[in-house]
Amino acid sequence: MVLKAETNINIRFIPREPGIFTPSQVKVLADIMSQDGAASLRLVLDLPLSVSVIPELADSVREKLALAGFLLVPEGSCIKDVKICPHCDHGTGAYRTVGRMLNEELMGKETPAPVRVSVSGCGCRCAMSLLQDIGLVAEPGGYSVYIGGNPYGKPVVGEKVAEGLPDDKVVPALGAILSVYSSQRGRMKYLHQVVKSIGSIPFAQAIEESCAG
Ligand code: SF4
Repeated sequence: MVLKAETNINIRFIPREPGIFTPSQVKVLADIMSQDGAASLRLVLDLPLSVSVIPELADSVREKLALAGFLLVPEGSCIKDVKICPHCDHGTGAYRTVGRMLNEELMGKETPAPVRVSVSGCGCRCAMSLLQDIGLVAEPGGYSVYIGGNPYGKPVVGEKVAEGLPDDKVVPALGAILSVYSSQRGRMKYLHQVVKSIGSIPFAQAIEESCAG
């Protein structure tokens, strides 16, 4: 099959269990490449995997990926796939479960600009949590939350807005952050710009209120 790269549809996806592929998932990926003509399977730094296929096959390839248990990463201004640090023996608590839960509950939620979230399993912060729009770090007393990081151009280190969060307060805390961010729609575009403009205190207060409820 001859592919015209300029007309292809790029489909981005991640495994449901971060970094781990089942044999059937590997087979589905091989089928997509051999049968649907995806020229390559791309994995670039910490970006999602992606395959590029002709438009006529895009829906069926998306369906195959979803049936195989992959999560499709949405385009546009929304919460992107949540990055979770590689599995190792140093992680604290159920951080991978929390990361998966965030992916399932929040990925695709509309935001003023794309929002990147990561979860690190310990203070080594291998998921670069201080350089994300929203970064969580699992610690013995609960999660610390950082906002407003940015890895691009002149990097910005995120500001801590909460610490000691238990697992069940992580989703409400992120909801509170997104609520403050969305209320600033029109002023600035990216979260790190909003944090620079209004400071981190409104976010910290919103998290505190969400956790008190
Ligand atoms: S952040 Fe901690 S738990 Fe995660 S990969 Fe790094 S050392 Fe391991």
